[in-house]
Amino acid sequence: MERKEFRELTPVEDARKLISRITATPETETVAIEDSAGRVLAEHVFSPVDVPAFNRSTKDGYAIRAKDSYQASEPEPVELKVTASIPAGCAEDFFADDLEAIEISTGAPMPDGADAVVMVEQTKQIGESVLVYQPAHINENIMKAGSDIMKGERVLRKNTRIGSREIGVLASVGLKEVPVKKLLIGIISTGNELIEPGRELGKGLIFDANSYAIAASVEEAGGIPKMYGIIPDNEKLMEEALERAIRECHIVLTSGSTSAGVGDIMYMIIEEKGETLTHGIAIKPGKPVVIGMIGDVPTIGLPGNPTSALSIFNEFVAPIIHNSLGTTPSFRTKVQAVMGTGLRSGGREELFPVGVIRGRAYPADKTSGAITTLSDADGIIEIRAETEYIEAGSPVEVTMFGNVKSPDIMYVGGQCPGIDILEERTGMNFRMLNMGSSAGFTAIAGENTDIAGVNMPDADGNYNLSVIRKMNLADVVLARGYKRELGLIFRKDMEISGFEDLTEGNYRFINRNRGSGTRAVLERELGLLAEEKGISRNELTGSIAGYNSASKTHRSVCDAIKDGRADVGFGLRSAAEEVGLGFLKITEDEFDFVIRKDIIEIREIETFLDTLRSEGFSKRLPKGIRTYEMTGSIISSF
Ligand code: AMP
Ligand code: MG
Repeated sequence: MERKEFRELTPVEDARKLISRITATPETETVAIEDSAGRVLAEHVFSPVDVPAFNRSTKDGYAIRAKDSYQASEPEPVELKVTASIPAGCAEDFFADDLEAIEISTGAPMPDGADAVVMVEQTKQIGESVLVYQPAHINENIMKAGSDIMKGERVLRKNTRIGSREIGVLASVGLKEVPVKKLLIGIISTGNELIEPGRELGKGLIFDANSYAIAASVEEAGGIPKMYGIIPDNEKLMEEALERAIRECHIVLTSGSTSAGVGDIMYMIIEEKGETLTHGIAIKPGKPVVIGMIGDVPTIGLPGNPTSALSIFNEFVAPIIHNSLGTTPSFRTKVQAVMGTGLRSGGREELFPVGVIRGRAYPADKTSGAITTLSDADGIIEIRAETEYIEAGSPVEVTMFGNVKSPDIMYVGGQCPGIDILEERTGMNFRMLNMGSSAGFTAIAGENTDIAGVNMPDADGNYNLSVIRKMNLADVVLARGYKRELGLIFRKDMEISGFEDLTEGNYRFINRNRGSGTRAVLERELGLLAEEKGISRNELTGSIAGYNSASKTHRSVCDAIKDGRADVGFGLRSAAEEVGLGFLKITEDEFDFVIRKDIIEIREIETFLDTLRSEGFSKRLPKGIRTYEMTGSIISSF
């Protein structure tokens, strides 16, 4: 097979038209109603019974002849003779005559002869008699047979998606089974680099995210996923898997191998076995996509990148599933927002994932190729091909993903257990990007976050304030946070008495990433030590094996030491002690919060600050992190 070049990209509108003509034909199967949630009705459902099947009382009270009560009033009640009592579920026949009353429970069948129920609250029973204080009208508090659902009435329409309400209706008309559509959707992941989640991650491997994310999306759309697992980039194996899936399913989805790269042959197989309708749609993310028919089975090759695969699924596969099932896509909420930051676009139509926080949309496209992109996004905006730049503050329409609750507060900065406790105690939902202090400062400077969490020292060991000054940050305030013990972390069986132990080359060090405040603290400490020794800092750090490593969180530093990939690290006491590692205190840092001035008075930020200042928060902090007299005070405003 020879390698193919990309063809012309299909414009989005044309691709949508093409999609609207593609359908697959599902089968019908009968399932128990308790297994029917999420399925689509294959036929109308008619009620085989009246609901209720008998006239029944809707109140606890007395079944009477309405006319006997017409004279009743508070001062002059009428007196009726109580002759019987009917509980719910009672199968006996009763009869109420003139001037008689029969005690009756909610849901119980009405006795013959009676035509109204007086509520117990409007009566008083005395011995064998009851006093009725208010007149009742005919049919009062009675639900007539068939008044809810009549026998033969259509209760559910074909093509309805079955949910709790529908299951309730089916059960209440006495149906135990229901005919539903069965649209089987085969899912194949391709790539030599893929491995199933739960298995050991070998070198160069990544977990197969697509099989699972796509299967869940298929279910959401009403189809039945059938996973074929991971197929290596081998033409013969891919062909076999595809053939099997096409035999067994109504629609087949593959992911990976769609771009015209070496070894990327999926689209050639589709081409060879069937007909390619399009290869490459002019949108981002997710340009490489093949749509074809193999026999009567729509076959779609989704891009490998998980973000792209899900975006393309939502745009182009979900509609095929809905067409095939005869369902209408579940309503996707659109919200009006303004861009929180400027956004450059690539000059072609883009479906751009964004996070939405209190009406402001932020690009969620951190790095293409990361699933976190989508999990940080609340919805997408559509950018037209002719748009090159969207200015901050311009209105955009965001199509929200299903069931997404957008967060209350956006946080960018250092990772710290204190933030997790703050989030829990505020009861709010934070969107947290733990990217380090530098990223926090940059994000707040660009108005891309509400709060930055920072622990960045200057040369004199003053935290955060001088960085704000140096960066010329405007329209922000600094709220003092808390102090954290930082030091060396190591296995408990090791004897470590200070940095000197590291410079002899006996230990492998695991460092934090550049841009993290903790690494900056370490650098400062080592600078002081170098000065003492009369050598340069580079000379000192050069003698520490592993100094150039870059672990992203306190947690991952500890993991590396526990797994034996490193011997010593630098980080939080709380992180070390949580996992049973040894700790030697070197210093205490100050972890503060830079907050945008324009939102300092909104409820969410007030709650955040109140919580920070609260005793409850202070008490929950782990050993090695402490609040102090300045905690929660706004020390400066810029
Ligand atoms: P491909 O289209 O095969 O060139 O894949 C594009 C990118 O997506 C590569 O980085 C792949 O490793 C990645 N990728 C492909 N399939 C999957 C999958 N099932 N789960 C997660 N990542 C994937
Ligand atoms: Mg691949």
